[in-house]
Amino acid sequence: MTTSTHQPILQVRSLAKAFGGNKVLQDVSFDVQPGEIVGLLGPNGSGKSTLLNTITGFEAIDAGQVLLQGKSIGALPAHRIVSDEGVGRTFQLPSMPTKMSVIEVAMAAATKQHGFWGTLLNSRAARDAEAAARAKATALLDELLLTKVRDLPASALSGGQKKLLGIVCALMGEPRLLMLDEPTAGVHPNLRNDIVSALKRLNEQGMTLVVVEHDMHFIRELCTRCVVLDRGHIVASCAPAELAQNERVLQAYLGGG
Ligand code: ADP
Ligand code: MG
Repeated sequence: MTTSTHQPILQVRSLAKAFGGNKVLQDVSFDVQPGEIVGLLGPNGSGKSTLLNTITGFEAIDAGQVLLQGKSIGALPAHRIVSDEGVGRTFQLPSMPTKMSVIEVAMAAATKQHGFWGTLLNSRAARDAEAAARAKATALLDELLLTKVRDLPASALSGGQKKLLGIVCALMGEPRLLMLDEPTAGVHPNLRNDIVSALKRLNEQGMTLVVVEHDMHFIRELCTRCVVLDRGHIVASCAPAELAQNERVLQAYLGGG
């Protein structure tokens, strides 16, 4: 692949999305550079999850463009963006299957993303693919602190552990960009520090991250830059340390009206 070193990994251009008459995103434009950890902030209902959903194809965009390393992906369906274009994501409220173990859920993510080795049962290729998926899942579960619960039913995990498993599943597809929707909401403070450390390690290995987050400690520890949404508009793009002095950010959280 020939990409200039200055090309953003993600470019969002004048993106708009409405649900009926509810204009949830209006003229949203921002870039993400390779290696950044961008915090996506904003009050409840400001459009953060919808922005992740439109970028990753889970919701169709009404207008605007989404470019991944210069390639337009705005019209692609979610499975193409996730599997073929390498955008990993997690959801605000992960739900886990009741019967599968943690490692089986992680391995199934590889199945979904890299073809159906499960349907090739008894073939040599299927066994090799399964062994590779198991090795990758084992390593990622270790990286995301889930080794101890590897064989438990996924549904038995705590909310925070389910969020970590969601990150493992996204990473099974070896994404070039990872988008996380509130990875620490409802998570015990002790585990939050572990999530920060795990995400920092991933970033040091080259991963670019966009993280929807409310926890200011988490944001200051982790993010290189913050993009702030207010009622569907981007009102600020600044360093975490500048948030508290930014009038438009304060207005977004306190202003109402
Ligand atoms: P945030 O993640 O910032 O809390 P959301 O993106 O979830 O905000 O929601 C922004 C607005 O879009 C809300 O008014 C919400 O009700 C609306 N919305 C989100 N998804 C849908 C949908 N699938 N159908 C209709 N309205 C939606
Ligand atoms: Mg949300």
